[in-house]
Amino acid sequence: MKSAWFPLMPENRSNLLLAAILLAMVMGCVFRSDRETMSRPESSELPVASASPVTAQPTPESPTKKPDAGDFVVEQQDLSVARFQRLDNQVKTEKMLEKAADRLNQALILPHDILIRARSCGEQNAFYDAKDRSVTVCFEMMERFHGVFRAGGESEERAYEKMFDAMRFVFLHEVGHALIDAYKLPVAGNEEDAADRLAAYVNLTELGEDGVKAVYAASDAFNLEAKQSASAKRKFADEHLLNEQRFYTSLCMIYGSDASKHARIVDAGYLPKERAVRCRNEYQRTVESWRSLLEPWRKR
Ligand SMILES: [Zn+2]
Repeated sequence: MKSAWFPLMPENRSNLLLAAILLAMVMGCVFRSDRETMSRPESSELPVASASPVTAQPTPESPTKKPDAGDFVVEQQDLSVARFQRLDNQVKTEKMLEKAADRLNQALILPHDILIRARSCGEQNAFYDAKDRSVTVCFEMMERFHGVFRAGGESEERAYEKMFDAMRFVFLHEVGHALIDAYKLPVAGNEEDAADRLAAYVNLTELGEDGVKAVYAASDAFNLEAKQSASAKRKFADEHLLNEQRFYTSLCMIYGSDASKHARIVDAGYLPKERAVRCRNEYQRTVESWRSLLEPWRKR
């Protein structure tokens, strides 16, 4: 099973791609798109031997905690496409993935390792693949976001900054799929929406102003994607919610996290009052749900 950024496969894909899809076994994730994209069907989940043997035991002080038998592990990748040199340099020199892994490892118990990597994938996507328990962020996805923000009127450098902000949301969305799979969490609803809400929850409760910027950037990207692809055929059968819905839900999470601080979202008309009055409860329910689900797996 793989959860990717872009969903439905156009009907005119080649057999080669179809073969690749059958091999790769994925399912689509964060952003919908009306452009040509690839998604992959669910696979039977192949068991993969964990690098870390299950030796840890619950401590007497935390009898309800699960044994810790894994980590988020950065898988280093050689750059394969020259135009991504700048992105690759920045991700590596700033140790973005290592920092994210450290932070997650400090907070979460895992039953097995989860690989994380950034690379060129040949598709504008980001995904969790249950087959090798990996989260992959594609440089093509970052390039696309940069283009979406540029087309939305941002300067070159500002678009670059917002792209990285939005990618923090994307990455945590994919981590959401990884945790749902690793912890065998119940999902009584749409998993894509659950993963979006996990990304919003972690950003807004754990990452301070950087987290707020990430959810804002993601909501902006959802909105711009919706507008920029408005004339293309819409894919109502996709498992993702529509970009417009994801835009409003992201704003609702921000507003619900602190209505007075983020009053401008409503005052300026970005979020209709009819939805805004529900956002505090909606946000609190999201936080409580994820807190409760993650509690046995939290180190602190
Ligand atoms: Zn997803």
